[in-house]
Amino acid sequence: MEKYIEAFVQAFIGSLNWTWKSILFDVPWYSNFFWGLILISLVVWGFEIMFPWRKKQNIFRKDFWLDGFYMFFNFFVFSIIISGFYKVIGLLFNDFGVTIKSISLVDITQFPNFLQLLMFFIVLDFVQWFTHVLLHKYEFLWRFHQVHHSVKEMGFAAHLRYHWMENIFYKPLKTVAVMLLGGFEPEQAFIVHFVAIAIGHLNHANIKLSWGPLKYVFNNPVMHLYHHAKALPSDRSKGVNFGISLSVWDYIFKTNYIPESSGAIALGWKGDEGFPKSFFGQLLIGFKQNIKG
Ligand SMILES: [Zn+2]
Ligand SMILES: [Zn+2]
Repeated sequence: MEKYIEAFVQAFIGSLNWTWKSILFDVPWYSNFFWGLILISLVVWGFEIMFPWRKKQNIFRKDFWLDGFYMFFNFFVFSIIISGFYKVIGLLFNDFGVTIKSISLVDITQFPNFLQLLMFFIVLDFVQWFTHVLLHKYEFLWRFHQVHHSVKEMGFAAHLRYHWMENIFYKPLKTVAVMLLGGFEPEQAFIVHFVAIAIGHLNHANIKLSWGPLKYVFNNPVMHLYHHAKALPSDRSKGVNFGISLSVWDYIFKTNYIPESSGAIALGWKGDEGFPKSFFGQLLIGFKQNIKG
């Protein structure tokens, strides 16, 4: 038992220290997600200001600061809090003989760096696409995912407005994906993480961008806006355009839907009028509804 408590505390303190050192520029630049996130946010926000899609939308749109808060909460505060729990879960699996390499299918180290990163990116994106479909399909998961869909005016920071439980829902399949690929992240995995943050920010930005013919590969603001549409086609009431970084899964599995591209559509879901508007209200609502059944 002592071993677990010690590991828990160490992981917690380690994660807290790392974040603090990142704020002070005391970590390698390429692993500084604190300032990296701020830089990507400023660049994408700059694009929104210079080339707005919905011209009447304010630069400080509705819930701008709420979403800004979510961004830091989900990326840093939550990661610090959860780090100890993940460490202990990893140790428990180890004790039962399951290691991160137990189900490894391929040894990706035999491939060139670029290919390793590409495989890592594609496999991770697919499992996240699949998890996202589940978040819409099952009522229990959807109640938490509603936080992300409660955005009424779309802008880059809406990317990271989501309930912290989503981190937990995404974790199992992401871990399995890493395990299948040999149980470790490629050395330059930070590139994949930064690219994913940038694409996610763009997908939510107030910019009309659809990548031309590359729209069949990459998710984009036009496609993702319809993921947030309040009015869904009657035969696809559980949602459309589930893509995270890549749109290709939606085209393969026929969940793509882009009826027009004016950008002027109502966002949310049918019956969202009473949904809490504050951070703490949104934090609790998923659990409350579940208790009530
Ligand atoms: Zn969704
Ligand atoms: Zn979204």
